[in-house]
Amino acid sequence: MVQKKKQRGQLIVLSGPSGVGKSTVISELLSERKDIYFSVSFTTRQPRVGEADGVNYNFVTREQFEEMIARDELLEYAEYVHNYYGTSLRVIQEKLAAGIDVLLDIEVQGAAKVREKCPEAILIFIIPPSFEELSRRLHRRATDAEDVIQGRLCKAKEECKQIPQYDYLVVNDTVSEAAGEIISILTAESCRTRNR
Ligand code: 5GP
Repeated sequence: MVQKKKQRGQLIVLSGPSGVGKSTVISELLSERKDIYFSVSFTTRQPRVGEADGVNYNFVTREQFEEMIARDELLEYAEYVHNYYGTSLRVIQEKLAAGIDVLLDIEVQGAAKVREKCPEAILIFIIPPSFEELSRRLHRRATDAEDVIQGRLCKAKEECKQIPQYDYLVVNDTVSEAAGEIISILTAESCRTRNR
């Protein structure tokens, strides 16, 4: 009989416009799939109210970030609305080698780099039910100034043009449905008989 043997962990990339509700979907997903490791990114942006260093992000200076780039310590990085964001290469390599699934919450340029370096990664894009709803969600969050919100809305339209590079598209209508769809995708991927 053929034995199903899992060796390396799955690398899961989740992208979607700022304000789409990705963090809430991720919290729901991680509460259902406690075996998944969430990669805490490095960023040069300021912490928002309620965010903690080492939990939401590792907050660093531009200088520290540029040192990490120079030392080739990042799997990927991108500049997004005037700040750097990046993923630690070492942590990801260690987790995947230990057979642990790793989840990255990253934007589209970073996702493209991950696709190049790790073709087997599962790329999922989350979209809002509509742009009007995205605007409502960004305003409701009330963490950013109006010009920042407008910048994020413009960026969202640009980002959606990258949807064809993703394997799956999930609409975040309700958090539980979106998280449920992602769990189904991951289950199906773990049952694949051949690589893409
Ligand atoms: P925010 O400032 O709203 O927390 O994040 C802005 C954008 O940066 C989001 O689209 C988020 O997915 C993305 N992001 C967060 N961490 C990383 C990272 O490590 N690399 C890249 N490329 N994007 C990231």
